[in-house]
Amino acid sequence: IAGGPQPAYIRAMLDAPQTNRPDLPPEIGRRRTFAIISHPDAGKTTLTEKFLLYGGAIQMAGQVRAKGEARRTRSDFMKMEQDRGISVSASAMSFDFHKGDREYRFNLVDTPGHSDFSEDTYRTLTAVDAAVMVIDGAKGVESQTQKLFEVCRMRDLPILTFCNKMDRESRDTFEIIDEIQENLAIDVTPASWPIGVGRDFIGCYDVLHDRLELMDRADRNKVAETVSISGLDDPKLAEHVPADLLEKLREDLEMARELLPPMDPAAFLEGSLTPIWFGSAINSFGVQELMSGIAEFGPEPQPQRAEPRQVSADEKKVAGFVFKVQANMDPKHRDRVAFVRLASGHFERGMKLTHVRSKKPMAISNPVLFLAADRELAEEAWAGDIIGIPNHGQLRIGDALTEGEALRFTGIPSFAPELLQGVRAGDPMKAKHLEKALMQFAEEGAAKVFKPAIGSGFIVGVVGALQFEVLASRIELEYGLPVRFDASQFTSARWVSGPKDAVDAVIAKNGQHIAHDNDGDPVFLTRLQWDIDRIERDHPDVTLSATKEMM
Ligand code: GDP
Repeated sequence: IAGGPQPAYIRAMLDAPQTNRPDLPPEIGRRRTFAIISHPDAGKTTLTEKFLLYGGAIQMAGQVRAKGEARRTRSDFMKMEQDRGISVSASAMSFDFHKGDREYRFNLVDTPGHSDFSEDTYRTLTAVDAAVMVIDGAKGVESQTQKLFEVCRMRDLPILTFCNKMDRESRDTFEIIDEIQENLAIDVTPASWPIGVGRDFIGCYDVLHDRLELMDRADRNKVAETVSISGLDDPKLAEHVPADLLEKLREDLEMARELLPPMDPAAFLEGSLTPIWFGSAINSFGVQELMSGIAEFGPEPQPQRAEPRQVSADEKKVAGFVFKVQANMDPKHRDRVAFVRLASGHFERGMKLTHVRSKKPMAISNPVLFLAADRELAEEAWAGDIIGIPNHGQLRIGDALTEGEALRFTGIPSFAPELLQGVRAGDPMKAKHLEKALMQFAEEGAAKVFKPAIGSGFIVGVVGALQFEVLASRIELEYGLPVRFDASQFTSARWVSGPKDAVDAVIAKNGQHIAHDNDGDPVFLTRLQWDIDRIERDHPDVTLSATKEMM
């Protein structure tokens, strides 16, 4: 074949996007939809930037960097939030990754970066098929990583681990691996093994492919040098690795082979085994190997849980669900974008889908895809992709869009608001404006908002204290309304449900404790567990629940 024109069947083979699962349509099989989980400062932003660099979207790198640095202080974080352009294109980024002759489409869904917990972070994880866990080689598994890991575990998400900052003094490799195995109760297999520590770190041995990857410290954006070798006994190793480091590498790997499980793709997909790569995101080292791992081990778009049946990616009909709503991306236009994870099918722009909650058809004429730096009109999208749908508030978190079937996607968590505060507009004349702003944030899922049945003002419920500050800042920035949060007399909120007359009886008897959420559903507010017990005893037909289904 060499030299001459290639026969059509060979060309077709080379042109076809490859997939690890030949039974999936190739466009779906090449998709990888994942999130990065980490503790602040471990290197998520830097790694994201390098992903985009390898994904051919270099111009984005500076923008992600700006975001990373903007987050350094709280007031700067607000500014970052103000600059919706950046944080939005960073909410879901699509880029291609080439591995050999295969081209993969990566969809990286950003988890909100600030350290305080928000529901948003959890919901993001419902839209992905895998997570990359970034840890700092000197600090190991930190608190936020652990919490996010638990969420991934609940969904059995496959996890790839990247141990970052190996160019600095880091912990012993076995110690890091042990810590992950013990704290997170997951098996770890080395995909690579670091050679040397801190200033003596020279690169990694690629355990999966028997290669030596050498770090080039001189040029941060240069792809590291790869030396092909044939196993640990290859004399070529000694040309590149100083004798003492080589001896340690051989010993370590021998011990690792005895003590640690080998890579097992099935165990990875089940979420019981995580391969770990060592690297230095800032030096672009180890990043490509990690990306290759994502491409190689997947997973492809997975079936999504729904009622009355789960939805598999290769189904012909389009179905998807809203996992995030972002309002006021452009403060001048008050638009909202609902982020939809496509669970199945091949979507084309202009399609009419059924909005299952309202049973109304919706023509999706301006869907956006977040291709690296740009927000582009999505002419088409496939299962696994994330599209943004601008709308005027019809689309809420948890909503399903289908070609007619009444599906309800499950597993999108709703959290009990744990902290309640009253909120008032600085200017009493602006109460109506405040109401509008609060309703919008409630729909975004940024907070729970309750309007007391008696009296004025609102009560806002969140899961983490920083959310109050973020809200106050956003209301001021996006609506020009200074607001004040005050302590509330209530500490718990319970949604009241049951037969209508029973619910009405509770409302009638407990006026001081009743409020309505942004959907108009009744909520019982109190500071005493005793009150909750009393209602449950006096009204056995009524259920008081700490969370409300997202639909
Ligand atoms: P994030 O908070 O997880 O997004 O972390 P960033 O990507 O913003 O990184 C936090 C800090 O660690 C920044 O000052 C980065 O420059 C630095 N950093 C990131 N990766 C590396 C690395 O591989 N080596 C070293 N030495 N520093 C790094």
